[in-house]
Amino acid sequence: MKPTDPHHSHENCLALFERLSEYIDRELDAPACKDIEAHIKACKPCQVCLDTLKKTVDFCKNLERHQVPETFSMKLKDTISELVRKKSD
Ligand SMILES: [Zn+2]
Repeated sequence: MKPTDPHHSHENCLALFERLSEYIDRELDAPACKDIEAHIKACKPCQVCLDTLKKTVDFCKNLERHQVPETFSMKLKDTISELVRKKSD
């Protein structure tokens, strides 16, 4: 196994996570979206998380507004950390 790809680190995933909900709500400008898309293309854990987050946001939108509950956000962040850790083992 190669050491961590410099293009893809835990930090990138976690930083990206902070912006995923904005990304989903289309609150980011085009360059920021491209950044996120480029990372997600190369990062399986983030693909899974984006998918999960999208589904959850859709679900929440049907309930009320577009806020992702904070507890869910925390949980998803844990999930990302876990996925990334497994991948690098
Ligand atoms: Zn990632």
